[in-house]
Amino acid sequence: MSLIVQKFGGTSVADAEKIRAAARRALRAQQQGHQVVMVVSAMGKNTDMLVDLARQVCDQPPAREMDMLLSTGEQVSVALMAMAITGLGGRAVSLTGGQIGVKTDSSHTQARILSISTERMQRLLDGGNIVIAAGFQGVDEDLNITTLGRGGSDTSAVALAAVLGAQMCEIYTDVDGVFTTDPRLVADARKMSNVSHDEILELASLGAGIMHSRSIEFGKKFNVPIHVRNSGMFTDEPGTIIGPIPESENRAVSGCALTKAEARITVVGVSDKPGVSLAIFESLADVNVAVDMIMQTAGHDGRADISFTVLESDLHRALAAVQAAAEGVEATQVLHAANVSKVSVVGLGMATQTGVADRMFRALAESGVNIEAITTSAIKVSCLVSREQGLAALRAVHTEFELGRPPSERATFADSLAAANAAKEADAMAVVSRLQSMEDLTVHGVELDDSQAMVTLTDVPDSPGISADIFEAVAAAGILVDMIVQSIGANGKTIVSFTVPKTQVDQATAAANQVVEKLGGTVGSESDVAILSVTGIGIRSHTGVGLRMFRALSAKDINIELVSTSEVKVNVVIDGAQGKVGLSALEAAFADVIG
Ligand code: ADP
Ligand code: ASP
Ligand code: MG
Repeated sequence: MSLIVQKFGGTSVADAEKIRAAARRALRAQQQGHQVVMVVSAMGKNTDMLVDLARQVCDQPPAREMDMLLSTGEQVSVALMAMAITGLGGRAVSLTGGQIGVKTDSSHTQARILSISTERMQRLLDGGNIVIAAGFQGVDEDLNITTLGRGGSDTSAVALAAVLGAQMCEIYTDVDGVFTTDPRLVADARKMSNVSHDEILELASLGAGIMHSRSIEFGKKFNVPIHVRNSGMFTDEPGTIIGPIPESENRAVSGCALTKAEARITVVGVSDKPGVSLAIFESLADVNVAVDMIMQTAGHDGRADISFTVLESDLHRALAAVQAAAEGVEATQVLHAANVSKVSVVGLGMATQTGVADRMFRALAESGVNIEAITTSAIKVSCLVSREQGLAALRAVHTEFELGRPPSERATFADSLAAANAAKEADAMAVVSRLQSMEDLTVHGVELDDSQAMVTLTDVPDSPGISADIFEAVAAAGILVDMIVQSIGANGKTIVSFTVPKTQVDQATAAANQVVEKLGGTVGSESDVAILSVTGIGIRSHTGVGLRMFRALSAKDINIELVSTSEVKVNVVIDGAQGKVGLSALEAAFADVIG
């Protein structure tokens, strides 16, 4: 018998009428012949209200007690949902995370799922019940209640769908599906018929609040077809399928996102030698802070600056950790700025098309937005901007890439559903059967690209439009740029490094020289660099991946020149002569997790 999981978010169960509407949907699915598991969030803004209450009684509530408190929100809604179903003549049993047997680790407020037992749910389903599972929660080994992080009910739903072998995981929410960007921020955002795992993973971790990014890790790892749709009482329109294929093969950018509350930390004047990034990022991983936009500026006099962004909510923890580590790496100071936002464009098509980065930079410049930092990876470009310009920046890029207009050739809802089902049929479990626990890191492989050279512009005076000037000049020379890392040094001048194919390094240097003649600054190049990458799923949310890389390379005395991270990949640039040694060091370091 086919089984479906239906998840209802907070706004979709905000009052009695909505709860009854959700209950009717589940009953309808059951009448159509499915077994139904509902995953329910806390009603409306209940979780926010509980967080606020906690803060009123204690400045820093203990994480264990926070979980005890927050889990009650979901407990209220599952009980009401079971009553609503009973009231409509159906049969239902509500279960907490602990009652289901959602086992997690003990990192309170950010717990990861280790395993889920299906036995009790299956027994209830076979007895004709609708099972109503509390989202967002589990229990650790000692039966302490844990929660999965804000927005975590999505992750509960997709994880349940994975272990139950569900035919579909439906995510009911307050918008019609996944849009090209948050429709509340950009009026002409467009609903996509489907979106690929890798794109939504990036979008979600770069600020698109529509899905908890860890839920997509499950979706991808266990090939769960996900359908995001509107819970509105009178709608039955198809929403968006999250599956293996993108909406369009030939569009470079498929969506954009804004992280409003971002903060930047710069460790100034560290000694420029192997092991320094390791020390800093080790201190951050120890306190479970995920970093993004890592920018390492080539040093003067054997000193370098390392700068990176974290969520503003992690700033205090991150600063404390970095300050403690700073002394060991002889840093002269640790700076931070909390008033920044990150705007990103994402698209699978970017990996094979040129001219995305420079178009984005030009669009921002034309809207008067100054770019404070840039990092890129194969399928995204992120720019750090001042917070007050964040929204204007998001709108500018949405317009520039014409995201409001449907792509000329695109996969239909039906195509993507078929692709998602086909992937489900394939033997996905083989890949994950080696995992000890469900949310373990999955690494697909380690790669060496030894075809690249690197160009670096230093001391470029900071002004709007410089990145656009630089990358337009490079694109005009027909050069394919791979990684870009741009940052503003402690001296207020911009530093930009980018990699290009070795065969094009002379043209790239010439193009860069033309630009610095106009703007000021100097150009240097390294004709032989190696890019080492680790690819997998949930790479950034597992803070240990970058760390393992840094540790393995540092043990071989290899200096890391550039870093870029994404949810599916971490890239580092090192000296070309050390490429092969670096590759084998990484292969050894990840041997136990390569799936
Ligand atoms: P739920 O309570 O159902 O989990 P959320 O508030 O977590 O709902 O997520 C839905 C919200 O996500 C929408 O109301 C919308 O404002 C926001 N959102 C952000 N980015 C996107 C996007 N790319 N597409 C659709 N919605 C988005
Ligand atoms: N109720 C939790 C929250 O508000 C979990 C969720 O809604 O996904 O974060
Ligand atoms: Mg949500």
